[in-house]
Amino acid sequence: MTTPEPALRVRGVVLPEAEHHDLYLVGGRVSRTPVPDARLVGEGWIVPGLVDAHCHVGLDSRGAVEDVEEQERQALADRDAGALLLRDCGVPVDTRWIDQRPDLPRIVRAGQHLARPKGYLRGVGVELEPEDLAAQVGVEAARGDGWVKIVGDWIDRGRGDLAPQWPAEALRAAAASAHAAGARITAHTFSEEALDDLVHAGFDCVEHGTGLDDTLIAEMARRGTALVPTLINVLDNFAGIADSAARFPAYADHMRRLLATAPSVVRRAAEAGVPLYVGTDAGGNVSHGRVADEILALHEAGLAAEDALAAGSWKARAWLGLPAGLDEGDAADLVVYASDPRKDLRVLRDPQRVVLRGRIVA
Ligand SMILES: [Zn+2]
Repeated sequence: MTTPEPALRVRGVVLPEAEHHDLYLVGGRVSRTPVPDARLVGEGWIVPGLVDAHCHVGLDSRGAVEDVEEQERQALADRDAGALLLRDCGVPVDTRWIDQRPDLPRIVRAGQHLARPKGYLRGVGVELEPEDLAAQVGVEAARGDGWVKIVGDWIDRGRGDLAPQWPAEALRAAAASAHAAGARITAHTFSEEALDDLVHAGFDCVEHGTGLDDTLIAEMARRGTALVPTLINVLDNFAGIADSAARFPAYADHMRRLLATAPSVVRRAAEAGVPLYVGTDAGGNVSHGRVADEILALHEAGLAAEDALAAGSWKARAWLGLPAGLDEGDAADLVVYASDPRKDLRVLRDPQRVVLRGRIVA
């Protein structure tokens, strides 16, 4: 027997509807029916739990993180920043234990990265040949929570530059395999060259997507293909990748050009109506807990403040299969801020209250 959690209450302007309400948090869910004696625990602007839609709990800059305590520290850093739903975009370790911890973020997993031999960070992906890709997509779909992730391009050391990793036929078979298993499929890409085949194969999402041009942006908008630009990762790390790749000058130069155009790709994709979502790429060269920085970066690239917030909150929650908002019966995952984040997104760096599954966690 566990004692029932006492009912809590938060009050203020509830986004995205932007109306003043009292929300009662009972049994992990939101109720708008007053509960006598519910304890008031937050007052201000109330935002549905933030989403980091490209995150890796179980990875760091050296690769796999086997240490469960370090995995926990990563998940706590994301949670305390208000990120209560993570799409884990590929890890080589099993983090299922997190699902048993009501105080840790919800995670939607994509299994393990699928890559060609030498086609990704060593020891992180499952390495395989194109003819085996579709079958392994089925395996990862069963391991994950509705997503599969492949590495679409990577440096080809023989070529000295980024190169697509899979023939179009293998990508079509991979997308079909994911969809037959009821999963969605996404791909890591930096280059221009890999994108055409991925989008036309029916991939549901593109990660990074720094090589997108207006033709493909229009095609993604038409198809509803999502983009998770991971802009802070690009802005913080592409120059360093280029600097450390002196042996491959064409690649280094390419990475610098992609860095220079990355904000404009985001702005043009948003203007064209491509569904955009917030993802930090925490776990590689980006530390956990930076969801607010990515929302700010998308805004600085040209998204309206409310659109950038939606891309990291209610819109992203709906995309990943949760109720978007804080209506009657919805999961009580929310963050309370002292002022209106639509007026100044910097307030997202300073949550007053973080409530996950109806419990105060930060
Ligand atoms: Zn990543």
